[in-house]
Amino acid sequence: MSALTSALSRIDADELIALTRDLVRIPSVVRRDDPSSTEAAVAAQVERWLRQEGFEVEAQDVAPGRPNVLGIVGDGAAGPTLLLEGHTDVVTEGNAADWSHPPFAADLVDGRIYGRGAADMKGGLAAAMLAAAAIKRSGASLAGRLVVGALVDEEGDMLGAKHLCRTPIGRALSAAIICEPEQNELCLEQRGVVWARVTARGRMAHGAMPEAGVNPITALAALVAEAPRLERRLRALCVRSRYLRPPTVTPTVIVAPVAGVPQSNVIPAAAQATLDVRLTPGPDADAVAKEIDEACRRAAEACPGATVEWQPVNGYRLATRVERSEPLVRAMVGAVRKATGRPARWGGVPGSTDGTILRMELGIPIVTCGPGHRLIPHQVDEYVEVAELVDAAKIYAAAVLAYLKP
Ligand SMILES: [Zn+2]
Repeated sequence: MSALTSALSRIDADELIALTRDLVRIPSVVRRDDPSSTEAAVAAQVERWLRQEGFEVEAQDVAPGRPNVLGIVGDGAAGPTLLLEGHTDVVTEGNAADWSHPPFAADLVDGRIYGRGAADMKGGLAAAMLAAAAIKRSGASLAGRLVVGALVDEEGDMLGAKHLCRTPIGRALSAAIICEPEQNELCLEQRGVVWARVTARGRMAHGAMPEAGVNPITALAALVAEAPRLERRLRALCVRSRYLRPPTVTPTVIVAPVAGVPQSNVIPAAAQATLDVRLTPGPDADAVAKEIDEACRRAAEACPGATVEWQPVNGYRLATRVERSEPLVRAMVGAVRKATGRPARWGGVPGSTDGTILRMELGIPIVTCGPGHRLIPHQVDEYVEVAELVDAAKIYAAAVLAYLKP
C-alpha cells in the first residue's frame, strides 16, 4: 500500500466530525472586558489531543492564557518544514437568540455542523490535526518536518502569527497551508488591508460663531468625499486579479469630538475617521502611504486652517501572491486530484489571514485552502459541510506527503 493510500485510509469522517464538534463546543471568543474569555480552553484541548497522538508539542505563550500550540512530526534537518495553520479564536456569536442552532452546541444536521467557528475555523483546524495524525499513524516517513499550528488572535491583531515568526520553529518554516474556509479552493492570492486612522485638527469654537474656529469635521467630510478618488488611484496601482475583487476604500468609523463631551453648540478641536483600505497585489507600503497622504492633503486644502494626518492601525498588511510554480502549489494541485478525484479549483482570499503575516515576515509561500463557504465566516448560523471537511483533511494529508516526499 502506498504511503498516501495508507494515510488516507486513516482519515475517518466520524472521528473528524467528533473532533470538530468538540472544538466548536469550547467557546473561544476573546472578550477584552473578560480576561477569562480567551483561547485557553480550546488550546488546551488541542494540546491534549496532539500529545495523545504522540506529537512533539510546543505551547508558546503569546499573552497570558493565550498560547500558540504546535504539534510537530518529522525532522527539520531532513528537509523543509511545512506548517498546517489554523487559529483557535472565534468572533463573537452576537445575539444567540438570532441563531436557529445554538452557537456553541455544534449541532450536526443534514451533513452540516453548525456553530460559531465551525467554518472559521475549527473545522479547518480539526481537518489539519487529523491529516497530520493520519500521516503519523500510518508511519509514513517524511523528508522534512510537519507542524500543525493552532494560533491565537487571528481575529484580533494576529499576535499569534506575529509571535510565531519570532520563534526558532517559526523562522525555520519553509511553506504554509492556511486552513481558512475557502471552499477547498486553492487560493494563491489574498487581499491586503490598511486601516488608515485619519485625524483632522481644527480650532474649538462656539457653534453660533463658526468664524471664530476651524471645524475639523469639514475636513473629514472632504476626506470621505475623497475616498472614491483614492480608490481609483489604488486600483490603478494594483494588479488586476481574476480571483480578488479590486481595491476598495471604505470609511468605517467617524469620531468627533475625539476627546471630551460632545456638545451640540461646540465645534470640536479634532475629529477622526477610519478608512478600511483593501488592496490587491502590486504596490508596496510606501506607494500605498503616498496615495493616502495625498487624500489627506486634499482634504486639508478643502478646509483652510485644519491639519489632516493619518496613521495605520495595526501596521500594513499588504496583499500576497505566490506563483503556481512553487513546489507547495504543485503539491496541492496534485493533492486535490488524488484526494478528491477532481481537478483543483482556484480562488482568492477576500481579506487578510495569519498567512499574510507569515508571507510578509518570513517571505515563505502560503496557500490558503480550507473547508467552509467563503462568505459564511462571522455570520449567524455559521456551518461547515462535513463532505468538505473530509475532503480538506484528505487534501492536507496528500499535500504534506507530496511536499515532504522522501
Ligand atoms: Zn479565520
